[in-house]
Amino acid sequence: MIATVSKNFFLYLSQNKGLNQAAKKWGLKFGAAQVVAGVTIEHAMQTVKDLNENGIVCTLDHLGEFVSSREEAIQATEYNVRTLEAIGKTGVNSNLSVKMTQLGLDIDKDFCIKNMCQILDAAKRTNNFVRIDMEDYSHCQVTLDILRELREVYGFDNVGTVIQAYLHRSLDDVKDLKGIPLRLVKGAYKEDPSVAYQDKPVIDKNYMRLIEEHLLSGSNTAIASHDHEIIAKVKDFVKKNNIPNDQFEFQMLYGFRTELQQNLVKEGYKMRVYVPFGDDWFGYFMRRLAERPQNVSFAVKGFFSK
Ligand code: FAD
Repeated sequence: MIATVSKNFFLYLSQNKGLNQAAKKWGLKFGAAQVVAGVTIEHAMQTVKDLNENGIVCTLDHLGEFVSSREEAIQATEYNVRTLEAIGKTGVNSNLSVKMTQLGLDIDKDFCIKNMCQILDAAKRTNNFVRIDMEDYSHCQVTLDILRELREVYGFDNVGTVIQAYLHRSLDDVKDLKGIPLRLVKGAYKEDPSVAYQDKPVIDKNYMRLIEEHLLSGSNTAIASHDHEIIAKVKDFVKKNNIPNDQFEFQMLYGFRTELQQNLVKEGYKMRVYVPFGDDWFGYFMRRLAERPQNVSFAVKGFFSK
């Protein structure tokens, strides 16, 4: 009961536009620095370099979502292009993750696609890959439509997306997206029972079903989870089904389960850490607090130490 109230509270805060705007001026607060790698590209490059030295590859996320002006979306596009150029120039091992609402999806789909094409052009020039993060359910179909258009109309093969196991539709989506690189996750947003499973055991079961489907179809699969039980099941499954190690990777968020990340590297698995950075950190941080009440303790400690 308390966990549900706390989850809903932090999810509510994560979507509060006023707080998200205000937090941009605060700098990283409330312990957010433990899960956000600073506010500049330089901070981000240093973090990636440190992780690379420990055998971990990365995906960088310049934080930002629910953008409502064209100027903001253009700025975000340019910032993402600069991030790809910085990755190329410094030679760190990282790809990029982006959200379609950051590139103006809520303003105009074609404008968003045009911005995404600029980012994918920069990724092509620097020999890199871009993953479209999946946002709330209201953006799911349009995100998948954009992915198809980018790949089939514009011919980009260096782009993939994310599928969320809590959605009823996801097994069909994974089957439709056979051959396309997918990151599979449980899902981070508050969704209606009419479209999303609500019970953890049901979500976990569907999650394994999606992972198995995509792996068995020979597709490139990222298993993005901090759940050691899921990770153990995946290790078992790939062994039994002779899935080669270069067909899949584990992914975790920056600052979470660092020991488990290192253990997976030592066992010879590819481990990619999602490294968020930038001044638009509030919504991301609130979602992490919603997911796991234990995370609140370091937020509270951070609040009192600032
Ligand atoms: P949970 O179901 O939260 O936890 C399962 C169990 O794992 C817990 O009971 C506990 O025993 C253990 N555990 C979990 N976390 C910890 C911890 N920190 N320390 C110790 N034990 C722990 N969601 C989206 O909706 N869209 C996206 O695009 C997206 N991208 C993501 C990218 C990455 C790299 C990752 C890792 C997650 C992403 N997510 C995304 C979030 C995802 O949907 C989940 O909300 C989030 O990962 C929590 O689920 P979980 O699988 O990690 O484990």
